[in-house]
Amino acid sequence: MTSAGRFAPSPSGALHVGNLRTALLAWLFARSSGRGFFVRVEDLDRARAGAEAVQLRDLAAIGIDWDGPVVRQTERTALYEAALGWLSDADLTYECFCTRREIQEAPSAPHAPQGAYPGTCRDLTEEQRERRRAERPAAIRLRAGVTEWAVSDVLHGRYAGLVDDFVLRRNDGVVAYNLAVVVDDAEQGIDQVVRGDDLLPSAPRQAYLAGLLGYRVPDYAHVPLALNRTGRRLAKRDGAVTLEDLAAEGVPAERVAAALLESVGLPGSLPDALAAFDPAALPREPWIVDAESGRFLRDSSLPGR
Ligand code: GLU
Repeated sequence: MTSAGRFAPSPSGALHVGNLRTALLAWLFARSSGRGFFVRVEDLDRARAGAEAVQLRDLAAIGIDWDGPVVRQTERTALYEAALGWLSDADLTYECFCTRREIQEAPSAPHAPQGAYPGTCRDLTEEQRERRRAERPAAIRLRAGVTEWAVSDVLHGRYAGLVDDFVLRRNDGVVAYNLAVVVDDAEQGIDQVVRGDDLLPSAPRQAYLAGLLGYRVPDYAHVPLALNRTGRRLAKRDGAVTLEDLAAEGVPAERVAAALLESVGLPGSLPDALAAFDPAALPREPWIVDAESGRFLRDSSLPGR
């Protein structure tokens, strides 16, 4: 398949209604444009036993289907290492020995933007590196040639953001999300990335890296997140926000799916939503979920109310 979208959850626990809404949007973007749709489990970090099975079950329960087998990042490290090797051969990486604290306390480089890696290890001599290697294992960073990069986003238009010498492989040997996601999206033929807008600031780094690796840069659609009543990112402690919690309160998955579709201005049945889907008409504001009152479910017109 040369054209596809995806949903790429981290298996850290059950998906909440905000995650499920993003998944539905990713599915709608892909299926309404004739794209394939993949589910990729981003389990390099934060994997909790059993979480993947629950996530997949819940995605299916709200009507999402996907093509081919589910892909897991922990089974793909050879791909990431190959990309890393290619970047290293092109002199686009370097070893970094900094602790988090050293980075925080380092004076920032003269023209470095706020929040950028200060470049402490960028120009170490081989002798200095040798000495530092004896102290702690190195992380691998990208030797970025720019400080900013722009992407094009269906909902945000042109978005320019920081690119620094970001980590490609952590010093515990685990490949960093920013590298894995770029390799996977390219390798899976993902040409449209739909995900929560908390990841918009990562898109410039990822698009820049994709370009360096000779990959086609995907289009992006960063969709609004679900927030709780106090304006914070929705979390499980906010109340009954997973399908399991809601089922325990007598709310079936179909009704949750209908409420999610209606929250983006679409009809509550998936086939009708697919037919009516128009990216330009999507809400741009966060979705406020009042889990305690269950108000986010109240508009749903399906039985089970
Ligand atoms: N695995 C990431 C998350 O669950 C999403 C990554 C992506 O969609 O690019 O937050």
